[in-house]
Amino acid sequence: KLLENRYLKGEIVGEGTYGIVNKAIDTKTGNIVAIKRIRIGEKKEGVNFTALREIKLLKELKDPNIIELIDCFPYKDSLHLVFEFMETDLEAVIKDKHIVLSPADTKSYAQMMLKGLAFCHKKWVLHRDMKPNNLLIGADGQLKLADFGLARMFGSPGRNFTHQVFARWYRAPELLFGSKHYGSAVDIWAAGCIFAELLTRRAFLPGSSDIDQLGKIFAALGTPKPSQWPDMAYLRDYVEYQYVAAPPLRTLLPMASDDALDLLSKMLTYDPKARITAQQALEHRYFSSLPAPTRPSQLPRPR
Ligand code: ADP
Repeated sequence: KLLENRYLKGEIVGEGTYGIVNKAIDTKTGNIVAIKRIRIGEKKEGVNFTALREIKLLKELKDPNIIELIDCFPYKDSLHLVFEFMETDLEAVIKDKHIVLSPADTKSYAQMMLKGLAFCHKKWVLHRDMKPNNLLIGADGQLKLADFGLARMFGSPGRNFTHQVFARWYRAPELLFGSKHYGSAVDIWAAGCIFAELLTRRAFLPGSSDIDQLGKIFAALGTPKPSQWPDMAYLRDYVEYQYVAAPPLRTLLPMASDDALDLLSKMLTYDPKARITAQQALEHRYFSSLPAPTRPSQLPRPR
């Protein structure tokens, strides 16, 4: 009855892009875990083994702000990934109208998100699918990046394997222009969009199509000038756009502090080479100035 001689499977807690997620008890530790099933039945032979190898690497990625992959094993036609069980996610926090996020709370969530990213980027692992519902929150209030690298390993159903991995609203401009040699800066762009969403409690750049996504970016940040982003014109899907001036960022986020806006503008810099890194962002004065970030255990969470 035990899966892998170890896990006692419980109720379904969700269904994601790759498959169903069940709650389970890890009889080895007594902990509650989440088991994600990824169907690999239809894939060509060999792919599964590559995926398994890459997942084994993920098991080495241990950090307080990254969801722990406890175990993985193939069973029937699916790969089973065992994660620590998480109570909620950042999307639920942002959308919960009963929750008030103080500037200190927002700073705490932003800091945990960037700490998780800094750790992964240091290990040369990209997330590639940063969005609020991939930022899970544990019973202790810690925010942890989830679904690491899955987009790269498995692609996204119904989507092109290469550059279309990000949820559209969080997709960096270099991805929208068809860049194939993108790097960790794509995660920072997404983190910037999430930071803005924390500050305003609304999606910052909610494009309704890929073209509209660029339009939303240009309307908020102005069209990029070649001097701001010299490599732009060489990107595969680059097309010239009519010039749009950037409104002051302040008009879009009237309640944010000057420090928050300064950091945000550095995360949403067009040229990926000039965009701030996760480590630099953590060293930004937004995080050292008052108010200090709320302790994770004190953060407001959905009931
Ligand atoms: P998606 O592919 O849409 O990002 P996932 O496959 O990651 O979604 O997860 C689907 C659902 O399963 C989530 O919305 C969440 O409710 C639940 N879930 C995923 N991982 C965990 C976890 N570690 N702990 C608790 N619930 C989880």
